[in-house]
Amino acid sequence: MAKCCEQFMSGWHIKQCDRNATTEYEGNPYCKQHNPELRRMRDEESTRKWNEKREHEKKRKLIEAYWLVIDDLNDCGLLKSSEDTLLNRVDQLKKQLESENG
Ligand SMILES: [Zn+2]
Repeated sequence: MAKCCEQFMSGWHIKQCDRNATTEYEGNPYCKQHNPELRRMRDEESTRKWNEKREHEKKRKLIEAYWLVIDDLNDCGLLKSSEDTLLNRVDQLKKQLESENG
């Protein structure tokens, strides 16, 4: 079986990847790790996951902040009954995010 064609610096020498090539890209043999197409897909996937996580974290912080404010307002007796729905809604969102996380 052909070896992966990826070359990289190892100290002062250029080395070739010694894995067997199990994939091909633009006519060149590559192992799964060095195939540029698979690499790109891995990068995109990790970027997507990272963005998703960041987005989730942003929402969690916002809801946490809302919750603290509303809870304080409630403690001080400043919430009127019409605002209870807001309290419930934030509580709902909080639980929803927690379950998404787990
Ligand atoms: Zn390789």
